[in-house]
Amino acid sequence: MPIATTNPATGQVLKTYEAMSDEQVDAAIERTDLAYRRLRGTTVGQRGEWLVAAADLLDAERDEIARIMTTEMGKTYAAAKAEVTKCASACRFYAERAPEFLADAPADAEAVKATRAFVRYQPIGPVLAVMPWNFPLWQVMRFAAPALMAGNTGLLKHASNVPQTALLMEDLFRRAGFPEGAFTTLLVGSEAVDRILSDPRVRAATLTGSEGAGRSIAQIAGRELKKTVLELGGSDPFVVMPSADVDRAAEVATTARCQNNGQSCIAAKRFIVHTDVFDAFAERFAANMAALRVGDPMDQSTDVGPLASERGRDEIDAQVRDAVDKGATVLCGGQKPDRDGWFYPPTVVTDLTPQMRMWSEEVFGPVAGLYRVSSYDEAIEVANGTAFGLGANAWTRDPEEQERFATDLDAGNVFVNGMTTSYPELPFGGVKNSGYGRELSAVGMREFCNTKTVWIG
Ligand code: NDP
Repeated sequence: MPIATTNPATGQVLKTYEAMSDEQVDAAIERTDLAYRRLRGTTVGQRGEWLVAAADLLDAERDEIARIMTTEMGKTYAAAKAEVTKCASACRFYAERAPEFLADAPADAEAVKATRAFVRYQPIGPVLAVMPWNFPLWQVMRFAAPALMAGNTGLLKHASNVPQTALLMEDLFRRAGFPEGAFTTLLVGSEAVDRILSDPRVRAATLTGSEGAGRSIAQIAGRELKKTVLELGGSDPFVVMPSADVDRAAEVATTARCQNNGQSCIAAKRFIVHTDVFDAFAERFAANMAALRVGDPMDQSTDVGPLASERGRDEIDAQVRDAVDKGATVLCGGQKPDRDGWFYPPTVVTDLTPQMRMWSEEVFGPVAGLYRVSSYDEAIEVANGTAFGLGANAWTRDPEEQERFATDLDAGNVFVNGMTTSYPELPFGGVKNSGYGRELSAVGMREFCNTKTVWIG
C-alpha cells in the first residue's frame, strides 16, 4: 500500500510520502532506546505534566487535527472533533490516575516470610504500536498515554492511509515536552514490521487491526519471545429481547452500526431479535437507517461519510451481493451509489443463512444483518456463533436476563441496554479471534509493565 493521503470523499490523492529506509528506521530505534533510558528516570509526576500539556494542545488544535483525520479517512468532521476531545480526556485520566496505578502494591509479608514484600510496576522499554486508520488518533492515544506514563517509549507504525495523522502524533508529544525520541512515527509499510519487531531494543508490540495482521505479528513476536496485545476484528451481536425498550434499542442500534461510517471493531453488526418484537424492531431500525444522510463528511448535516478506501467499500458491496444472490432480503440500502468517492448507503439485510458470507464474516461498513430468534438460548447460540468475541450488546429490562447475558455472552465487553464504547476507566479487549490482552484502565497500563515481585528479608 502506498503511504499517502487520499480523500475518500473524492478519491483524490492529496499527498504521498516516501517510506523510511532501513537506516532511518535503525536510527529511530536508537533514538527511542536512548529516550527510554531518560524517560524511565523521570518521575511519574513529570510525565503527567507532559501528558497534560499534550491534552492542552489537542484541545487548542482540535479543529485542525479533526480536519486532517476527516480528509485522510472520511469520518464526519463532528465525529473527528469528538475523537480529539476523547483523546485529551484520556491523557488527563492517565496523568491523574497513573500514580495510583503504578504505586507499589503491598503483599502479605508474613505469609512469605519477609520483612517487606510488594509488587513494583516498572516500564519494559520501547513498544511498537501497529495501528489502524479507523480511529486514527484514539487508537494510538489509548496505547500511547498509558505507555508513556509508565515510562515506556513508543514507535508508531500507523496505517499507510493516515500518514499526516501519524506525523502529527509524534509532533504532539515532542511539543508537549516529552524527550526527543519518546514517541516516534515510522513511515513504513507493513513489510517492515518483521525487521523492527526483531530488533532486540524493541521489547513488545501492540496491534489494532485485522486478524491477518494479528497472526503475522503474533508469529514474529512468538519467535522473538516478545509480549503482544492484539485488538482485532469483531462481529458484535446486538440482542433485543421481548422486555426491551424497542424504540430506544432501534435508535441506539442505528448509531451502534453506523458510527464512524460503520467502520468500528466494536460496532454492532449482527442484530439478533426475539420473534415477539422482531417486526416492530425491524420496521423502526430500517426506517432509522434509511433516514441517515450520506454525504460530504465535512458537511455538518452528514451522518455517514464515505468508506475509508475503495477496497473496503467494494468488499462490503460484495458481501451484500453474495447474501442477496443466495436469497437474503434487503430492507433498505444495498446499492453502491453512482458517484465519486467511496460511499455506501446504510443497509439492513435479513433472512440470512450460514451459507452467506455475512453470517460468519465481519462487515466493516454501514451494513446490518438482522436475525430472528425465538428464545434466550437461541439468541445466545447465534450471538456466540462466530469466531470473534470483542463486544456484545443485550437489550432487556428483566434483571435476571441481564445477569445471564453478562455471563453467557462470549465477549471481552458486554453492554446491557447501551452500545459498546471504550472508556479509559474500563478495560477493553476481546476473546477468541478478536485478540488478547487488554487496553485502557490500570489493566491496560500494566500490560506493558514489568510486574516485579520484591521480597526483602
Ligand atoms: P489491517 O490489519 O490491514 O491494518 C491495520 C494495521 O496493520 C495497519 O497499520 C497495517 O499497515 C498493518 N498491517 C497489515 N498487515 C500487516 C502484516 N501482515 N504485518 C504487520 N502489519 C500489518 O486492517 P485493514 O485496514 O485492512 O482493515 C480491514 C480489517 O481489519 C477490518 O475488516 C477489520 O476486521 C480490521 N480492523 C480492525 C480494527 C479494530 O479497531 N480492531 C480497525 C481497523 C481494521 P498498512 O496500512 O501499511 O497495510
